[in-house]
Amino acid sequence: MAEKPWVAFYWCASCGGCEEAVVDLAEKILDVVNAVNIGFWPVALDFKKKDVEEKPDGFFVASFINGAVRTSEQEEMVRLLRRKSRLVFAFGSCSHLGGIPGLANLYSKEEIFKYVYMDSPSTENPEGTIPTPHSHDNGYELEIPEFYDRVLSLDQVIDVDYYVPGCAPPPDIVMAGIQALLEGKLPEKGAVLSPNKALCSTCPLNETKPEKFLIKDLKRPHEVEIDPEKCFLAQGIVCLGPATRTGCGERCIRANMPCRGCFGPLDNVFDQGLSMLSAMASILDYPPEEQKEFEQLLNACPDPAGTFYRFSLPKSILKGKLRRE
Ligand code: SF4
Ligand code: SF4
Repeated sequence: MAEKPWVAFYWCASCGGCEEAVVDLAEKILDVVNAVNIGFWPVALDFKKKDVEEKPDGFFVASFINGAVRTSEQEEMVRLLRRKSRLVFAFGSCSHLGGIPGLANLYSKEEIFKYVYMDSPSTENPEGTIPTPHSHDNGYELEIPEFYDRVLSLDQVIDVDYYVPGCAPPPDIVMAGIQALLEGKLPEKGAVLSPNKALCSTCPLNETKPEKFLIKDLKRPHEVEIDPEKCFLAQGIVCLGPATRTGCGERCIRANMPCRGCFGPLDNVFDQGLSMLSAMASILDYPPEEQKEFEQLLNACPDPAGTFYRFSLPKSILKGKLRRE
């Protein structure tokens, strides 16, 4: 009998939800385990880096890597896994687009360290000690990974073959990707493994979305009583459905929350936030003499980066707060 193919799972800067997504396969995980050998999955089993290093190049049929890249250790591991794998899947929003950790690109490394290690209300650090990659203490040398100035998506560090979208990816998308891999039916390299259509096109509230409408205030979900039968945008609540690819099963909409954009943009859209702003500009029916009011409406949005780039800031045109490098 032919040996089962070997796969690897790894996580970088993420919350751990993508690892849960693998477990969310429930009893289907038994089908996966029957079909493949897991050769590296340190969050679940006692694997070490040398378990990857000792394998020949291209040994793993695929590596599924979740999380953004923020440290030198993560960069080293993803470069190693790239070398040892025939295919690399960016698994989940943080790996695909930078994700919520990518919102840290609004601050420099120094600003983050100052707040976390000196100024936060729960910190007691009278000597102002800040982590550094190399330090000496009590005759010992200590080395820790370097914390990079920017959060990067996986494809900003290594070549990526496929993207499994979502925060976290839903089980049916994960299973479909694994089946396509095992059956040799993967699409063209670079594909995002969900339909290339906007979420609005599959949304159960789509029929209540007017072609054009005028809203005077942008509201946040906690500020209003949401009508569960009516399109969020028509209620003045920003919903990223027009600029986000479908495939999630409209999970947030069905839980009476607007889409925040975790599946990322459609093919050939480079900047999801700009795509959403452009969608809003074409939907909102402001007469020319009220353009100023339209600008005021957008300017009144309390958290534009968190609203329009919640999952995609590192992959946007700006990539983060601009500063002299
Ligand atoms: S904007 Fe949001 S609520 Fe409205 S149709 Fe699109 S996905 Fe549905
Ligand atoms: S509705 Fe939007 S934010 Fe929610 S799971 Fe789907 S793509 Fe992600």
